[in-house]
Amino acid sequence: MSILKELRNIINPEHILIDEELKNHTYTKLGGKADFFVTPSTVEEVQEIIRYANKTEVPFTLLGNGSNVIVRDGGIRGLVLSLKKFTGIKREGNKVIAESGARIIDASQFALREHLTGLEFACGIPGTVGGALYMNAGAYGGEVKDCLESALVVDSAGDVHRLSADAFDLAYRTSNIAEKGYIVLEATFSLEIGDYHEIKAVMDDLTYKRESKQPLEYPSCGSVFKRPPGYFAGKLIQDSELQGKGVGGAEVSTKHAGFIVNKNNATATDYISVIEMIQREVKEKFGVDLEREVRILGED
Ligand SMILES: Cc1cc2nc3c(=O)[nH]c(=O)nc-3n(C[C@H](O)[C@H](O)[C@H](O)COP(=O)(O)OP(=O)(O)OC[C@H]3O[C@@H](n4cnc5c(N)ncnc54)[C@H](O)[C@@H]3O)c2cc1C
Repeated sequence: MSILKELRNIINPEHILIDEELKNHTYTKLGGKADFFVTPSTVEEVQEIIRYANKTEVPFTLLGNGSNVIVRDGGIRGLVLSLKKFTGIKREGNKVIAESGARIIDASQFALREHLTGLEFACGIPGTVGGALYMNAGAYGGEVKDCLESALVVDSAGDVHRLSADAFDLAYRTSNIAEKGYIVLEATFSLEIGDYHEIKAVMDDLTYKRESKQPLEYPSCGSVFKRPPGYFAGKLIQDSELQGKGVGGAEVSTKHAGFIVNKNNATATDYISVIEMIQREVKEKFGVDLEREVRILGED
């Protein structure tokens, strides 16, 4: 049976897009097409898709908000799975429980409305809850690891488990989620009761810092590189005099050297060439290897 026929037996056919342009689903606004872009709406559908992909060896790739990925120009073969229909956020005691497709910004705003403190750091991170857990996203001294209590995941056999935070080996912008083959369905954040005005003041301050320092007017994937021990990636790039330099439509931001912006219809090839240029120059000038934070998906 064809992939499409099989998928139609698993999920609502309206939730399967064929040859979907992934530039519509990535923050960089670039990348090729997905053979099948599927947006399940129940946990059972997610489980069935995983089981189907395993049985048939059809490749599948999970996409959150696409804010930390570059999709190559040839796109992604097989299935691209998006959990964007899983957006619920609720409170239980002093915990915020958010489904994986909810934006972590919305979880942070929800916590504010509930007078709960601990998620302020996430108020400007444009990823989903699932993507934030995968990356152990963080900013301004806070990170997911600090407040994650547990998460609900589907494993590579399609079975659902609740795992405590320490099962994910969260560390600086990394987790073991790829290695374990987990799909995050939901995250529980353990927070504390705080003062609404104090929480809001912190969030306003972080938003001001972000808006004044980051080139949010252009598509990008945020900080491209991890912080190398003992250095700041942005400073190394700035001191390599690379700001404003680019390839095709992709350019090292003049506002924040750690960002590469899609200034003028960049391709993924342009973007990746700029990444390689930065790595080469910084290594040559300072002897430092810059490790990518952003993930590159798909094929040329
Ligand atoms: C302007 C801008 C500012 C940013 N600022 C910050 C910042 O301050 N701090 C920071 O840490 N990051 C920042 N980022 C990067 C990015 O927002 C985070 O890494 C975010 O957590 C990625 O989430 P996402 O949903 O977009 O994931 P995606 O980019 O879609 O995916 C990233 C990885 O997560 C995996 N993934 C996604 N969802 C799931 C799931 N449900 N289960 C398992 N795996 C999953 C994907 O397969 C992929 O490997 C910024 C990006 C931009 C564009």
